[in-house]
Amino acid sequence: MSSSAITPWVVGNWKMNPMQADAQQLIQSFKQQLQQAPLSAAQCHIAVAPIALHLLTVQQQLADAAVPVAVVAQDVSRQAGTGAYTGEISAELLKDSGIDTVLIGHSERRELFADTSVVVAEKVKNALNAGLRVIYCVGESLAQREEGLANQVVLQQICDIARVVQAEQWAQIVIAYEPIWAIGTGKTASPEDAQAMHAAIREGLAQITAYAAKMPILYGGSVKADNALQLAACKDINGALVGGASLDAQSFYQIATAFAQTK
Ligand code: PEP
Repeated sequence: MSSSAITPWVVGNWKMNPMQADAQQLIQSFKQQLQQAPLSAAQCHIAVAPIALHLLTVQQQLADAAVPVAVVAQDVSRQAGTGAYTGEISAELLKDSGIDTVLIGHSERRELFADTSVVVAEKVKNALNAGLRVIYCVGESLAQREEGLANQVVLQQICDIARVVQAEQWAQIVIAYEPIWAIGTGKTASPEDAQAMHAAIREGLAQITAYAAKMPILYGGSVKADNALQLAACKDINGALVGGASLDAQSFYQIATAFAQTK
């Protein structure tokens, strides 16, 4: 199966943004874009990841969008089920509220919130066991890239979760390759470098799972409306995880369109 047969994903990571009124405005504008020129769900899966507090409101506001827009949690607890874990939201509680997908291992969580490889693996295990789809983020730092360690670091991050993912659960995983030096910096990996890493990830996955050829591998790191087409043209780039540009309805729509029309 060629990776171009994979329906792309374009996911907006809103991070710790925006205020309620701005979120409403953003959703309204995005729905208008979709209304004027709908993208079919067969062309592209579209999703947004708001703050936990807004997950259900955003889901309600998007319910009547011209095309389905999934709502994704930005994180999940390492604790499963329910219990005395103040401040935490488990995979089961997300699922119970109708949230089916979660981002795990974003570099901001790894770097700022002590999401070690062990913690990330626990989160992935709990999320999959609760029936969630996981968007698993991997990526190297600038120092690691400059030392020639990028592939090793990223493939290790894939191996970190391999022991907790059961054979059929790989079908529920989307990989997001996000070089840390490209996140929020305006520096994007060149399409050639991004494609090379995506191909290496797919090769690495092929050693682990029979689903490798079908797994979406998204690129993230300063994806904008004006570089989306070039990235979308790369064989093994099956979509984008978009931070800053997802807070602008028109930019986000243009990025989704670039992937929908190129793939
Ligand atoms: C991200 O946070 O996942 C991201 C890729 O951010 P940005 O697009 O702003 O670089």
